[in-house]
Amino acid sequence: MTFQTCPVLVGGEWRILKGAPATPIFNPSTGEVIAECPVGDAQLVDEAVQAAQAAFPAWRDTPPVERARVFFRYRQLLEANFDRICACVSREHGKTLVEARGSIFRGLENVEYACGIPSLLMGDSLENIARGVDCETMLQPLGVCAGITPFNFPAMVPLWMFPVALACGNTFVLKPSEKVPLSAVLIVELLEQAGLPKGVLNIVHGGREVVDALLTHPKVKAVSFVGSTPIARYIYETGTKHGKRVQANGGAKNYIVVMPDADVPKTVEALSTAAFGCAGERCMAGSTAITVGAAADRLLPTLVDAARAIKVGRTDRPTPQPDMGPVITAQHRERVMSLVAAGEREGAKVICDGRGAKVADAPNGFFLGATIVDQVEHGTALAREEVFGPVLNVMRMDDLDHAIEQANKSAFGNGAAIFTNSGKAAREFKHRVKAGMVGINVGVPATMAMFPFTGWDESFFGDLHIQGREGVQFFTQQKVVSTRWFGEGVGDVWKK
Ligand code: NAD
Repeated sequence: MTFQTCPVLVGGEWRILKGAPATPIFNPSTGEVIAECPVGDAQLVDEAVQAAQAAFPAWRDTPPVERARVFFRYRQLLEANFDRICACVSREHGKTLVEARGSIFRGLENVEYACGIPSLLMGDSLENIARGVDCETMLQPLGVCAGITPFNFPAMVPLWMFPVALACGNTFVLKPSEKVPLSAVLIVELLEQAGLPKGVLNIVHGGREVVDALLTHPKVKAVSFVGSTPIARYIYETGTKHGKRVQANGGAKNYIVVMPDADVPKTVEALSTAAFGCAGERCMAGSTAITVGAAADRLLPTLVDAARAIKVGRTDRPTPQPDMGPVITAQHRERVMSLVAAGEREGAKVICDGRGAKVADAPNGFFLGATIVDQVEHGTALAREEVFGPVLNVMRMDDLDHAIEQANKSAFGNGAAIFTNSGKAAREFKHRVKAGMVGINVGVPATMAMFPFTGWDESFFGDLHIQGREGVQFFTQQKVVSTRWFGEGVGDVWKK
């Protein structure tokens, strides 16, 4: 489908919202507007929720093996259209094609996980909980669920949500980020082609009004959210106040501790991927390196060379591809640069400066080069806030105790990693560090589909995380059935 204005999908009908206001969708590589995203309203949400509600009874009663078959077909369609989806992600978001491919693979794994739904939905049973009485648990769907997603993984984050929610037997309303809705539309179209019945998955666009309407609609049972911390907190508070189950993933500030015995070339490679991959626009970006003792002097010269060698460029054509693409908007680039400038004013030293990055054939793209800021002090804005750009902070500590103490001061708790050759240091770190996902010589310990995405503290609001068994639990409710049969005969043991 080609369009100027991004369509919505309600009850199996794709349509353009005529007369609605719209926001621009940029190609961040060139700064050009490539399409528009309409701003929907509460009326649109009501139509989508009613359509999802109407589709629920038949979808709930579709046997799990049949629901799984839709996702087996979907998996094949995603694979067949893999290059198209990656190109769409690269064009509207600015990820390099290599990064887009990696993210679509992570999304695909969530579809593969959903294909296992007949096993995942199995309950427990116990014969004779009392004489002649048997007991079993069943996992049943909730009804209409909603997903609200961020700009930084246009296809992967929606794929964290709707495949498992639908495979569990729910119906769904997706509200993708208004900055990158084209990839979401593309992957939803493919699920229709896989044979999903009309109304089971709906897609709406918009901002605060649409989100509020989802959070307060009496027929929405659960809301899955991924985005920044202030909005995640708002989603959790508003959704739960209106009786919904909510899982809300927020922002992050992830620490990578480098011990003096770390392997320098391997650590530099992992650290620069963790800090500068996806132009730093990842909730699992390794945005602060805490060097311990002599590690700073061993590491930094090689790290600065590696950062300077990162080629920045446009990602919206197959060749040539750069090492790093643009950030999402001109305003976001300004925000990142102003945080680096604030860091300088507060005494930190910029030892690799990407703020002047220029791309000859794309002078209006939203580019920033890899930037390293050394001697960042605790309490400064650069140390405290999520930068979400290609900026690596360096903090220096004397020993592992102080490094862990520093990492644990963060308000967030998404990821943390250590680079070392010492099993003892690694064990100490994994035991004590305050983060839900920990890497040992792994810079981006983001979990795959079969494990929960376990943010802590201000990186997550809720009880059951996205992905893995927790994801299935989030999208189902348990029923416990106790059974006894009366009458004469073999099974009539209750009288004994
Ligand atoms: P965002 O919070 O600005 O937007 C996320 C979603 O919320 C979008 O769909 C947006 O339309 C909606 N939204 C924005 N403002 C709103 C408001 N005032 N009221 C209601 N809805 C609103 O986030 P973003 O900038 O798109 O994404 C980047 C953020 O997402 C970063 O903080 C990043 O760390 C986080 N993130 C977290 C994870 C995770 O798993 N923890 C994963 C990816 C991204």
